[in-house]
Parts: sequence; structure tokens; C-alpha cells
Amino acid sequence: MQIADGTVVAMDYELKDDEGTLLDQSQPGQPLTYLHGHKNIIPGLEASLVGKAAGETVEVRVAPEDGYGVTNPSLEQVVPRDRFQGVESLEVGMQFQANTEQGPVSVRVVKVDDDDVTVDGNHPLAGKHLNFNVTVQEVRTATEEEIAHGHTHLGGGCCGGGSEGGECCNSEEKAEGECRSSGGESSGCGCSH
Ligand code: ZN
Repeated sequence: MQIADGTVVAMDYELKDDEGTLLDQSQPGQPLTYLHGHKNIIPGLEASLVGKAAGETVEVRVAPEDGYGVTNPSLEQVVPRDRFQGVESLEVGMQFQANTEQGPVSVRVVKVDDDDVTVDGNHPLAGKHLNFNVTVQEVRTATEEEIAHGHTHLGGGCCGGGSEGGECCNSEEKAEGECRSSGGESSGCGCSH
């Protein structure tokens, strides 16, 4: 089966910056699972996976615009140090919640001077090219419930994969197009998210 909208993909991945520094990776035996076509992963990576199948490896370099966005200079601000009263030792790299007109924003300290502190509200990966090395582990049809929720349910079963009595499709019976709950609306799994 190939990756397309409405499929659930499990993949191992490594993410490096252009300097080759490892930024993120899936843990052995714990692939990242996502519902394709619902903007659950960054657009540049999602687009590059279309049509791939289990066992295939994809290397892609994602531009900032298709990743975590370009750096927005206006999100970097200098604030008086006395705004950080109560913080014992202020260091570069610390994260704080800043209250803005758009709501709370996570900011990182990027510079500390005697009187001023420079904070940056950009995503830490904004402005970076992202080099992904992905190995597709599994591709399956999403359940109707998963598509309705816009995210995956572990193992393809109801809420955590505990599908007993064949009520929900499990991986052994995932014939394409056949994957649906047998009991209709009334047999909902009680998924509350
Ligand atoms: Zn759900």
C-alpha cells in the first residue's frame, strides 16, 4: 500500500540540520505514527512521502517555508532584565512563556546583558533547512474514526488498539476499503479526544 491521504503511516526518522547535527529522531522500535493528509507533520515532509510504501527510505531536505517557517525578526525582542525577577540565574537557552496579545508564546533567551535580556519567540527550528532520513515501516488504511478525529489511534483499533471481538479492525484484517467498525454508530469506542 502506498502513502496517500487517509492512510496511517509508521516511520523511523532522523532529523539533522545542514551542519549534520542530529536534532531529533524516533526511538528504536517506536516509529512515529501519523495520519497522512491532515497536516499532522510538517508540509515539506508530508509531501515527500506521498506514494511511498513500507520498506522505502526517503531522504528529503525541507526548506524553512515548508518546515517550521522562516525566522521572523519581529519575534526577537529586548526586554529589561528586571522583568525576570525571581529567576535566579538567567541563562541563554532558557524558555519562558510570554503573554502577548495573541496569547501565550514560548520564548527562548538568546542573549543576557547587564540590563537587558533578548528573547526569541521563533520556533527553535524556524529558518533552518531540515534534513530528514525516513524509513517507512508500515502503511495502512485509516479507520473512519481516525479520519473523523484527524489523528491516529494506536494499532488501528479503538483508542489504544484494544480491539476485542473484532469490533474494530485490526492489522490482520486490513483488506483495503474493508477497515471499518462493524457495529455502526452505537458501538463507538468512547474515544473522548
Ligand atoms: Zn481519537
